[in-house]
Amino acid sequence: MPTTTNVYNYCPQCGNKLVQSPISGVTRPNCTHCSFIHWGDYSLGVGGVLWRDEKVLLVQRAYNPGKGVWTIPGGYVDQNEGIAEAIVREVKEETGINAKPVSIIALRDRPGEKHDAYIIFLLEDLGGSLEAEAAEVSDLGFFTLEECGALQIAQLSLSAIEASMSGTGFTRKDGVKMIGKSSVLYQI
Ligand SMILES: [Zn+2]
Repeated sequence: MPTTTNVYNYCPQCGNKLVQSPISGVTRPNCTHCSFIHWGDYSLGVGGVLWRDEKVLLVQRAYNPGKGVWTIPGGYVDQNEGIAEAIVREVKEETGINAKPVSIIALRDRPGEKHDAYIIFLLEDLGGSLEAEAAEVSDLGFFTLEECGALQIAQLSLSAIEASMSGTGFTRKDGVKMIGKSSVLYQI
């Protein structure tokens, strides 16, 4: 039977020791004193492809893993933040550029010790001048597709840039009533 990663020894809700038992076909750490079940560890990231004058915005990572590699800007989504708000914030923080999400053009899924999903937006350029976030970005700029090919660039970023040229994707559908008042629907 598959198991989830066991990062908790004690219940984060009530502090009692967790036990391992099968729940929905998987051995999962869970608490016999309260309702807590550790379903797994997940993280959610966003990236953005932003074109200006037929050049795409890239940043060079200032830290490991991947120090020196060029990527599209992006980062992790905060707990109570929408994915569209997260990419606008990350692009502004990392590059100084103001961006508006247009559509979702790609999604990278990576199950594992931490299940990591990364959603990539096509962004509209709302202006602003380049200013690197010193702690995270060692260099940045706008590059033609040909120039991208000559850089040490992450394959995922290159795939996203290529996807951005097809012009289709999921767009935000406002006004749809769903369970959870903060829910937002993206659809073709
Ligand atoms: Zn508990």
